Amino acid sequence: MRSSARRTLSIAAPFCDDTLGYFTERLAPGPTRQALLCLIRGAKRNKAFDNCRWIGRAIDGTGAGWRTHQGCNLCRPKQNAAKQILGYQHSLVMVSVVGTGLSLPFDGEPYGPGDSEYAAGQRLLRRVIGNVGKRFAQYVAVDGEFATAPFLHTAGDPGLRVVARLKDNLPELFAAAQQRFPSGPPATVFQHGADRVELWDAEDFDPWETLDWETVRVFFYRQHKPDGKVVEAYWLTNFPCSTVGPQALFRMAKSRWEIENQGFNDAKTRHGLEHICHHHANSLLIGWLLTMLALTIERLYRLRYLHRGKHRVPSSAQLLLLLWLSLSRPLAADSS
Ligand SMILES: [Zn+2]
Repeated sequence: MRSSARRTLSIAAPFCDDTLGYFTERLAPGPTRQALLCLIRGAKRNKAFDNCRWIGRAIDGTGAGWRTHQGCNLCRPKQNAAKQILGYQHSLVMVSVVGTGLSLPFDGEPYGPGDSEYAAGQRLLRRVIGNVGKRFAQYVAVDGEFATAPFLHTAGDPGLRVVARLKDNLPELFAAAQQRFPSGPPATVFQHGADRVELWDAEDFDPWETLDWETVRVFFYRQHKPDGKVVEAYWLTNFPCSTVGPQALFRMAKSRWEIENQGFNDAKTRHGLEHICHHHANSLLIGWLLTMLALTIERLYRLRYLHRGKHRVPSSAQLLLLLWLSLSRPLAADSS
């Protein structure tokens, strides 16, 4: 709307925020979701992902559109310790292809008050597995809050493996892991860029009560940066040692950061994900999906030399005609 490119569109009537608000409230999200799926399937088919054995999906949540007053019933209040409302924000969970040398965000699930990041994450994972198939990727990388039995079962049912951060929300397993690691020499030591990584790894930990796994594999790494800084973390997985070695496992754990850096950070600083144009449930979803689509197309062009195709470039008038035609309902056949 504010782009200088508008002048070249030769559209006489100006349009404003209200026009876009009206439009996005009524736009169906299905076709944009389909377009995203088409892109990532095409990317895989055309070998856009590095020569990697493991393709991952990372799922995580973020907030956008901070404001002091509630704008709609999907605005989530943010409270301080004394239960005072500090402001309102919109939340969404996003999923991205990771671990392939090319991060491609491809679907999102908003969640409002009374809902949770964790529940939205499960809905998103189920939809994504249903849409893109269980063989598209081999693992899901998530932060600690998703490492609960229902989420792990949702991923595990269709045969997906999970690599999840282990934190104190799983007190028994976390305590058992801390007791065992790090003691004695690490199972393996390797270079990760300029960093030296020590990794401890064992697959015989007991699952907690509600988890239906036979055992849990836990690994702990200590990453030494050249400036002396040390990064440590515990992770859990159901990948057996016989399938995935410690170095590959470490890379999978690190691929979770792609959704933060190439996902949320890029989308917010370069593509305006933070800005809510119109406080309406459907407009929010459409805005977010279009941002992901823009981000994914831009990356495929810039990093993988996506070609524009052989079709002619349509004029503004032709695009307008196509839009009008796509808005009409198909005529029902008269069978009388
Ligand atoms: Zn709102």
